[in-house]
Amino acid sequence: MPDPPIIPIRAAVLRTPGRPLKIERLEMEGPRDDEVLVRLVASGICHTDIDFCEGGASGPVVLGHEGSGVVERIGKAVKGIKPGDHVVLSYQSCGRCRPCRRGHPAGCQRFWEANFGFARLDGTNVLRGGVRGHFFGQSSFATHALATMRNLVKVPKSLPLELLAPLGCGLQTGAGTVMNSLAVRAGAGIAVFGAGSVGLAAVMAARIVKAKTIIAVDINPRRLKLACELGATHSINNRRSDLAASIKAITGGGVDYIVESTADHDMEQFAAELLNPGGKAALLSGASAPGGGLPGGRQVLSVIQGDAVPQKFIPKLIKLYLDGRFPFDRLVKFYDFTKINRAIADSKRGTTIKPVLLISH
Ligand SMILES: [Zn+2]
Ligand SMILES: [Zn+2]
Repeated sequence: MPDPPIIPIRAAVLRTPGRPLKIERLEMEGPRDDEVLVRLVASGICHTDIDFCEGGASGPVVLGHEGSGVVERIGKAVKGIKPGDHVVLSYQSCGRCRPCRRGHPAGCQRFWEANFGFARLDGTNVLRGGVRGHFFGQSSFATHALATMRNLVKVPKSLPLELLAPLGCGLQTGAGTVMNSLAVRAGAGIAVFGAGSVGLAAVMAARIVKAKTIIAVDINPRRLKLACELGATHSINNRRSDLAASIKAITGGGVDYIVESTADHDMEQFAAELLNPGGKAALLSGASAPGGGLPGGRQVLSVIQGDAVPQKFIPKLIKLYLDGRFPFDRLVKFYDFTKINRAIADSKRGTTIKPVLLISH
């Protein structure tokens, strides 16, 4: 078999944890039979990217997992997409294990390898020169990425691709947790811990499913104000006031649902304590839910990607956006690709909720 053609790309490479990313020229293989070459137009920056920037991986890597772009070339076996189509990239899954075959890719038994393994599932790598890609099956901090039909979603050409980028992870996770994982009932009370992009997506989704009481909890007054504009009925600044007492003052007891998006250990503990009997809390940090039953039929779940099937859920979010019910454009701030380190710093400081890099136009 001849070697696949080599494509020159530019990518933001993490070489040393804690140090700025550097945009470098790299070489990438062309698509294999089941792969799709995408020219990236934009990429969101998500907290998981920032965690890796600080914690690092073994050896140089390309991060980024909220890509959007235009299909440039497809492998011989790819069906259902063609060059020129607009796509949003999401998380990767194996397609072969039991949860994948049953239509639940977020439960993929190889989820960790497929998304954080920095390689294809057969261990090979698309990038040359010792830099590794395939982060979430994409590595979208680059001019080009190789994806598969499992993590690519075709989107209408009438919408700006750069705006759609963050649907692939953060927004899907927040909204999917409310609509799929917790299946929040109309009339219920919900608290959302953390008013970043994931938490605000959860707030918007809670309004869509007609939750009655929607309480946003954060330490940043600006974010709390935005949460109220997007659908929260109450907000609590938990730096200034006691969380449990404030929730009790609002609801007269606890809440029926909690979305915990801060990844703060104390907040994760609180999640179980503030639930009404029969209530459900979702932890989004990847922390394992406490084993064993909680009193009163309360449940704490560890949720991945809002249990969303991207090819179904992202079009649904786009429709809600077009109907004016999921105004996620209010969370987004655009940065030129070369300003990636500035965008990361603004996200860490909390001045930008969802940075989106403009990679090509
Ligand atoms: Zn699988
Ligand atoms: Zn993410």
